[in-house]
Amino acid sequence: MQEDLFGGYMKKKRCPYCGKVKDISEFNTSKSGVSSYCKACQKLYKKKHPTKEYKQNRADYYSEKLFK
Ligand SMILES: [Zn+2]
Repeated sequence: MQEDLFGGYMKKKRCPYCGKVKDISEFNTSKSGVSSYCKACQKLYKKKHPTKEYKQNRADYYSEKLFK
């Protein structure tokens, strides 16, 4: 199968946040591909950088622009 040809390359990935080589299943995948940070690190990152505020600020920014 074609999967097996690229399996060795695709199945493991190094997370630049913790520096560990982890199985690809430890990474979140999206339409654009595999995320660069592992799931564990993304959790830590989200704790440190809550996205709710950021999104709200962005929403305010856009509504201001739209209604001026
Ligand atoms: Zn990591």
